[in-house]
Amino acid sequence: KNRLAKSRERLADRVDRLVLGKKHIDAELIEDLEEILVTADLGVHTTQFLLDRVREKVKRKELQDPERLRQALREEMEAILSVQAPPMDPSRAKPFVIMMIGVNGVGKTTTIGKLAHRFRQDGLTPMLVAADTFRAAAAEQLERWAERIQVPIVRQQSGADPSAVVFDALDAAMARHVDVVLIDTAGRMHTKVNLMEELKKLHRVIRRKLPEAPHEILLVLDATTGQNAVNQARLFQDALGITGLILTKLDGTAKGGVIVPICQELRLPVRYIGLGEALDDLRPFDAAAFARAVL
Ligand code: GDP
Repeated sequence: KNRLAKSRERLADRVDRLVLGKKHIDAELIEDLEEILVTADLGVHTTQFLLDRVREKVKRKELQDPERLRQALREEMEAILSVQAPPMDPSRAKPFVIMMIGVNGVGKTTTIGKLAHRFRQDGLTPMLVAADTFRAAAAEQLERWAERIQVPIVRQQSGADPSAVVFDALDAAMARHVDVVLIDTAGRMHTKVNLMEELKKLHRVIRRKLPEAPHEILLVLDATTGQNAVNQARLFQDALGITGLILTKLDGTAKGGVIVPICQELRLPVRYIGLGEALDDLRPFDAAAFARAVL
């Protein structure tokens, strides 16, 4: 049984229990469904959207059997999660530059380690860049990942200018013919404005050095934070623009549903999901498989 099962039990089982013994999909059943979807972190807007779709289908007699309700919802969920976007293709540029963003604690550094490991397995040479110079612990943690998976890292002493670190790192990456540069950035939320300004500045520095870069700006979100993840996604999208999402900690939560309203509102593709703390616990996102695991 896969580790997404935890999310599955909750939402899928609740829908199953809801329809148990019911003969028709009526207004009362849809009202109860509303509560289930909202508490599964699908948010008010996406919940209303899904309920409208269900009502339409019932009206058009495309959906009548309550036992088919879960399947119908799953199809809608899959459609929302299947955001059209070009795939992440690191062979498109050399170096391929990925800027990882997200608030502290979401799993950014861990995800960079896992992603670098994946790239190595694909025969690419990654390089890690510690651009969170605010927390010494962040750079140390990244260094441990670099040692563990045997990839080069560029870091400076804490307090250094993150832009200078990135500038040097890109020089080093070009000199050493690195394939993929993974930049770990700061995520302190108590100085939201400064943080966004710092990230924008980093973005400009990268651009100045490599006009096509960063090729990906990936926002890491912690599934266990529920609706906070929606707010974070909006904030970073407004400030910086994002090219993709990574949802972490899906192994420990029934709250994976939060990715649905985020995809629906921001139309961003989910690139990977995190299912644990080990190196291999990062998987490419598959909308159909995800929808099946949840519903
Ligand atoms: P950062 O502050 O965003 O860089 O977050 P870290 O990478 O330091 O991760 C914070 C904590 O979350 C660490 O204890 C990680 O081991 C843990 N973590 C990261 N990703 C996952 C995941 O997919 N599942 C679980 N269970 N824990 C994770």
